[in-house]
Amino acid sequence: MANDIRPQPGILDIALYEGGAAHVAGVSNVVKLSSNENPFGPSDRARDAYLRAVHALHRYPSTDHAVLRQAIAEVHGLDAGRVICGVGSDEIIGLLCQAYAGPGDEVVHTEHGFLMYRIYALAAGATPVSVPERERTADIDAILAACNRRTRIVFLANPNNPTGTMVGAGELQRLAERLPRQAILVLDGAYAEYVAGYDGGAALADARENVVMTRTFSKIYGLGGLRVGWGYGPRAVIDVLNRVRGPFNLSTPALEAAEAAVRDQDHVARCRAENARMRGWLAEALAEFGVPSDTSLANFILARFADAAEAEAADAHLKAQGLIVRQVGSYGLPHCLRITVGDEASCRRVAHAIGQFKGAR
Ligand SMILES: *Cc1c(COP(=O)(O)O)cnc(C)c1O
Repeated sequence: MANDIRPQPGILDIALYEGGAAHVAGVSNVVKLSSNENPFGPSDRARDAYLRAVHALHRYPSTDHAVLRQAIAEVHGLDAGRVICGVGSDEIIGLLCQAYAGPGDEVVHTEHGFLMYRIYALAAGATPVSVPERERTADIDAILAACNRRTRIVFLANPNNPTGTMVGAGELQRLAERLPRQAILVLDGAYAEYVAGYDGGAALADARENVVMTRTFSKIYGLGGLRVGWGYGPRAVIDVLNRVRGPFNLSTPALEAAEAAVRDQDHVARCRAENARMRGWLAEALAEFGVPSDTSLANFILARFADAAEAEAADAHLKAQGLIVRQVGSYGLPHCLRITVGDEASCRRVAHAIGQFKGAR
């Protein structure tokens, strides 16, 4: 039966986001290093809070997330009234696009930037604009050159996924200062906790009327399965996002576990230190086998191979041993593999397998 049922323009241009693989046919005991998850999982206090929440499952959750926002604000020295919590930072990214970008508007992201920026821009009917990077690092001048009177949002992950590189505070400030008046700079700090001494863009978002910072509990906090993220920005922007946000977007167990997690900064510090140690070790081990990577500031490294064919063969070799990493052809990096920094045993297995692979060629 013929009909005229069509989705909004842009939606059929969305390529489905694929999460990191978790299984290999015929191999048990796999190590999943494809989604930048924390190998140590969440704080014990977060697990306990999650279990306690079972007693309140018949109650609707909080709509204003006041307790979690207060905890986030205390830990980060921010204004709780300017924090918004979402179903992962993905939801915050989606709300920003929905509220600020539509048909005829442009949403800027970097060449090897996070795929969700493009997906949410298209979902809102806006036009995503990809800006070239320089040596797999964001190029602030190129971003500014891509901005015009149609630009509504500029997304920049710092450190970036999947490159692991970042730009300095001075560059971020310059970008924020020179943006067109109608544009918001969104600093995605999904990996900020992995960078000692970096505030994720909090001070800039606190000081400026055109900067929003997004953060997540999915990476260093080890709570990817719960889906909690947050944003911080100008009061006027947060107010707009709250109007669009579903009132019960976060469940009670998610809210309570996240609050306990953010209050356990010792767990965060331990995970940051162990990640830095193994990240350095892994990068050096692969470099010795002739597989270079840029200096990563996150919880993964982007291993570069000679070409796409070699990267694919290396991936197959790893997979056969139950080591699941991420192919990043969809990020314009078909000659690379993104490898999450796992625990020490996993890193040693990856290095050993890549050594075997390169030795056999
Ligand atoms: C993992 C990741 C996120 C986090 O997404 P959640 O929805 O919070 O799980 C956001 N941005 C980037 C760049 C990421 O890599």
